[in-house]
Amino acid sequence: MPGSASGGINFVEPLVFERGRGGRSGSSAPPLDVPAVDPKALFGDACRDEAPRLPEVSEPEAFRHYVRLSQWNFAIDSNMYPLGSCTMKYNPKVNEWAARLPGFAGIHPYAPERMVQGALELMFRLERGLAEVCGMDHVTLQPAAGAQGELTGLMMIRAWHQAQGRSPKKVLIPETAHGTNPASCALNGLTAVPFPAGDHGIVVAEQLAQHIDDDVAAIMLTNPNTVGLFESELPTIAAMLHDKGALVYGDGANLNALMGRARPGDLGIDVMQFNLHKTFTTPHGGGGPGCGPVGYKATLAPFAPCPRVVQREDGAYALDYDMPDSVGRLRSFNGNFGMMVRAYAYLREMGAEGLKGATDLAVLNANYLRVRLGELWKVAYDQLCMHEVIISDKHLRETGVTTMDVAKRLCDYGFHAPTVYFPLVVKGAMLIEPTETETPNELERFVAAMAAISEEAATDPEMVKTAPHLTRLRRLDETKAARHPVLRWTPKAD
Ligand SMILES: *Cc1c(COP(=O)(O)O)cnc(C)c1O
Repeated sequence: MPGSASGGINFVEPLVFERGRGGRSGSSAPPLDVPAVDPKALFGDACRDEAPRLPEVSEPEAFRHYVRLSQWNFAIDSNMYPLGSCTMKYNPKVNEWAARLPGFAGIHPYAPERMVQGALELMFRLERGLAEVCGMDHVTLQPAAGAQGELTGLMMIRAWHQAQGRSPKKVLIPETAHGTNPASCALNGLTAVPFPAGDHGIVVAEQLAQHIDDDVAAIMLTNPNTVGLFESELPTIAAMLHDKGALVYGDGANLNALMGRARPGDLGIDVMQFNLHKTFTTPHGGGGPGCGPVGYKATLAPFAPCPRVVQREDGAYALDYDMPDSVGRLRSFNGNFGMMVRAYAYLREMGAEGLKGATDLAVLNANYLRVRLGELWKVAYDQLCMHEVIISDKHLRETGVTTMDVAKRLCDYGFHAPTVYFPLVVKGAMLIEPTETETPNELERFVAAMAAISEEAATDPEMVKTAPHLTRLRRLDETKAARHPVLRWTPKAD
């Protein structure tokens, strides 16, 4: 481990930026063979007077800088990453091959439709494939993330109500929901109304009835929910909402526990988002660029984002802008096309049987961990779970070691921490999602690490409380990191 705490030589040079020397360069441009132009004449006031202070480094220095940064990061390509709710499954490298094919990667966003028929066909087919998987009539690929998909779906719901001359304001959301759900409501001018799930971790239709009135626009439900349980009363709940003229938004982030086995559309959901980086193996990339398609039933079709990809009668593909009631454009051009190529490659690689197999393994792996970890740790809802399981630090209370300490110590064992202290309804929660990509051996290694940490908590709690010991940086001040983030390299004054 680089920079270990064991007193070894810290050979890690922190920043290549500081190592630059004036005039050093990693590239060479051909001699100018056109008349030189004064940039001021071209760009006027927008032109800089001085060159920006960028590091001047050789190619190996630049390369080492980025490779080193990648090694300082924890990655699914190096170790198991059981971060619950985030579905950190392996990203198949064939996806990368497909996305880099020059015919896809090199398309100009203004290229005329006749020159990008293949790309439009891929989008058309991906839409059909996703619609089939979730039981929806249509899909838009525009939104750039799951959260933006939520926003899109809620905009469509609002437009649907408005088209009928109504403007109900409330959206019912269970307390266990992901934080993006209430945020998407707020961005839409809707009011999130939280309500508690039943004692067994799922929403109970009977208890929900009291919250449904004329001002309810929709309910937002995640299925399976964020405690890893199947919302088995969903069809009844959907019927209750529909009876009152309200709609059902499905947060599809956990579709990886359903695909091939159950379809949200068949369960009563009207509109939902897909998180391609969770269910369909596109990379999770530092907040984007991503893709969060939205599936919807035919009733919502007039309000969908514009344009949509259609197939004309002569078989050619085209972009249809003739959508007068559309909520508009959600993303420049046609969204993040590279992600669509990756997801499509995954769909085709897996096929229907493969997707079902992935679902089965994801659920099997989570239940394997539920049983094995449950031998030592407190399982929050000890019943058959879906793709993720929640344990807590309850049996460590006497030792003073907390969920946070366990999470930090796991880094020393080479595992990414689970999601901690979420959902809020479980005290000291660790939300663990192994995904289908881990083998039984790897799951056992994780169980062994957790057992070792439990043992350490009893015999040497201080050691766990001061973890991590083997990572490049030790325990960080998370409050300070959130309140005063340093996101920018600033050159030292000469
Ligand atoms: C990840 C997640 C989201 C947000 O999706 P992003 O693609 O990260 O914006 C919403 N709801 C649930 C349940 C999630 O797990």
